[in-house]
Amino acid sequence: MAAHAMTHDADHELFRQTVKKFCVREIAPHAGEWEAAHGYPKELFGKAGELGMFGARVDPEWGGAGMDWWASAAMYDAMRFTDLPSLNLGWMVQADLTVPVIDKYGTREQKEEFLRGAVSGERVAALAISEPGCGSDVAAMTTTARMDGGDWVIRGQKLWITNGAIADFLVLAVRTSEDRHHGISVVLFPTDTPGFKVSRKIAKVGNVASDTAHLFFDDCRIPGRNLLGERGRGFQAIMDNFRGERLATSLLVLGLMDRAMELAVEYAKERKAFGRTLMENQVWRHRFAEHRAAVESARWLTYHALDVLNHGGRAVKEIAMAKLYVCDLAQKVSYDCAQVFGGFGYTEEYVVGRLWRDLRLYSVGAGTAEIMKEIIAKEEGYLRPSGRS
Ligand SMILES: Cc1cc2nc3c(=O)[nH]c(=O)nc-3n(C[C@H](O)[C@H](O)[C@H](O)COP(=O)(O)OP(=O)(O)OC[C@H]3O[C@@H](n4cnc5c(N)ncnc54)[C@H](O)[C@@H]3O)c2cc1C
Repeated sequence: MAAHAMTHDADHELFRQTVKKFCVREIAPHAGEWEAAHGYPKELFGKAGELGMFGARVDPEWGGAGMDWWASAAMYDAMRFTDLPSLNLGWMVQADLTVPVIDKYGTREQKEEFLRGAVSGERVAALAISEPGCGSDVAAMTTTARMDGGDWVIRGQKLWITNGAIADFLVLAVRTSEDRHHGISVVLFPTDTPGFKVSRKIAKVGNVASDTAHLFFDDCRIPGRNLLGERGRGFQAIMDNFRGERLATSLLVLGLMDRAMELAVEYAKERKAFGRTLMENQVWRHRFAEHRAAVESARWLTYHALDVLNHGGRAVKEIAMAKLYVCDLAQKVSYDCAQVFGGFGYTEEYVVGRLWRDLRLYSVGAGTAEIMKEIIAKEEGYLRPSGRS
């Protein structure tokens, strides 16, 4: 348990054990069935909410546990036992992509209406930023919100929205003026608003039980009071929130890598070929030893970023480095973990194949590897003329 030394506080440990028990008992036994069905029951959000999984860092006034980022680290570590990475993704969107934005920028009325239900899991939330022509380039968004008689009237579309088809409301980024960066705002959008349509669930190569939706807004009218934060300050709010999103992604991916390693090591100890276990071949135990060392270095890079953020630091570079390194490493580790299973690793019968294909997402989702490198380069001042610091 040395790897978790920094997270060892009695409350964190209790939280880890509670989440683990829930995942082992109530999720993992159904993981294969839900994966095959390309979906899981929405009620699971309510159960996870009851355990405090969506409000670990939220003030108890709104139903949260008022803990810190180490509690989130313990939670993502324990979530590896779902054996259903699609669900980890959906829960992460709720816990760390939507709840924190409302917590940080919401008025008391907005918290009462949206935050409380999201923390309890009674209301599922989605974060809607990306569009067909706007992914890495967030400021290129074209979905508009115009004021009309005290209401916002929203027109446009959003693509790739996790939880989009099951969400009760969206944390929705919209364009409120032409100004590229200062013309973006965020609104809270109930999905029962007339004119809103989920046009399709996107068929993906992995995370197939997570719904990823294409959403359309045809002159949807919501009250003016649903503006979250200041008008025109949405771009800054989104960038600010990306830090938590990317840290949570790194923690989630670390957990899934650990899971792939656990499964692969167990298998290599059992499976025999040519009269000996696979692990008795030096090539495999060395490969696992190398990966273990790399996973631990990824963990401490992530924990360092977490620690900086936890202490109120900017942590922009630290988080970009963690997200880049962890998600890149996950590609190699999950590939080798599936490889040791031979043909079985390429079937739906074994969880390791699911981990391999689902982890592929994380070089793209929550900011691509190339964008992480751009952030690190910018923070390091690589394009600044030499001689100036
Ligand atoms: C399963 C899934 C779930 C998602 N969930 C959500 C969600 O809940 N909410 C949401 O808003 N979005 C979501 N997304 C969208 C995701 O954030 C975007 O896919 C991602 O930001 C990349 O955008 P893009 O797909 O438009 O690719 P693009 O931005 O078009 O990038 C294409 C390629 O070009 C590279 N590239 C772009 N700019 C540069 C540059 N300056 N230098 C070098 N290379 C560059 C990229 O790294 C990438 O490799 C999800 C995506 C997927 C696949």
